[in-house]
Amino acid sequence: MPRKHSERRTAATPRQRSRGLVIAGERIRPGETRELHLRFGATYLGSPVSIPVYVMRARKDGPRVFIMGVIHGDELNGIGIVRELLYDKPPKLLKGALIIIPVANIQGLERHSRYMPDRRDLNRSFPGSPNGSLTRRLAHEIFTEVVAQCDYGIDFHSAAVRRTNYPNVRASMRDPGAKRLAKAFGCELIVSSRGPRGSLRRAAVEAGVPTIILEAGEVWKIEPGVVEIGVRGCLNVLQSLGMIAGDPEPPSFQLSISKTIWVRSELGGLLGFHARPGQLVHKNQGLATIYNIFGREQTSLISPADGIVLGMTTMPMVNPGGIVYHIAALSQRTFEETQRKMAARSDSSPYARIQDDLATNITLR
Ligand SMILES: [Zn+2]
Repeated sequence: MPRKHSERRTAATPRQRSRGLVIAGERIRPGETRELHLRFGATYLGSPVSIPVYVMRARKDGPRVFIMGVIHGDELNGIGIVRELLYDKPPKLLKGALIIIPVANIQGLERHSRYMPDRRDLNRSFPGSPNGSLTRRLAHEIFTEVVAQCDYGIDFHSAAVRRTNYPNVRASMRDPGAKRLAKAFGCELIVSSRGPRGSLRRAAVEAGVPTIILEAGEVWKIEPGVVEIGVRGCLNVLQSLGMIAGDPEPPSFQLSISKTIWVRSELGGLLGFHARPGQLVHKNQGLATIYNIFGREQTSLISPADGIVLGMTTMPMVNPGGIVYHIAALSQRTFEETQRKMAARSDSSPYARIQDDLATNITLR
């Protein structure tokens, strides 16, 4: 695909960064806020697809942060987070720039699909290529136009279809910038991992742009509790970088998790749940009972470790091999410390409230 501004777009050296900010061929001057459209590709009928981009640049130079939503076309919580961030509490930038793409995968969104129209996963296609598949071209466009011009990034995701996630940040904790960002975001749980090959955060970190993701909630929903935590996280990051006024609000506790375990069912049947997202569970504690269709108990699933429920199915039935829970393993000492801190956590904490919200469509027995 011919690219009109390729020279300017690829020239994101630090020296030029301090001179200018050019996105979609538009120069954004100090003090300007702009709503732009990144034209990308075309539909079958030849109509251009354009990706909305919001750019806010302070008068003073400083860190540049991107916020990305809907790389997976069915994960909508990022849209809600961006709306609240801009509408309810529009940040007043003291320095630097904020670049927001609320919907990266527009064609996936319109088809209610995680994937791009060529059935590829955009979040396995970064940093992309100007000559590759449709998906790799889009990845390249986003990477060169936005990511490469930034110093930090936040990307929003939700659990896979028919699952939900207790809000957790995922970051490469070996990267000092990503570690700083992850801690600043202020989630209770940080899962330490580089991310899959081709994911935006892994490619961005490898390109020197520390980037984290928030994994929270379900697909096809904008969940108020997830939005609240996402907005607070963005503000915490911007405050910790000195880009907006105010002090970050840290969570009651923060755990860095290096081991997570999928708990699968051996039998097919109906599920009775005993644990909800964000709940601490002891090793061998019952997580779920599996019933046959007439309500007779068949077997139960137990926790393989002391840990906290990171995610779970929202489907009331399971096949053999189906994932029922995702447990973040904790050492006994960390478990006991967390138990104390969780007991002392205020009921008004968004992390306490979201446990109820995420469990509204399951019956806990
Ligand atoms: Zn995702």
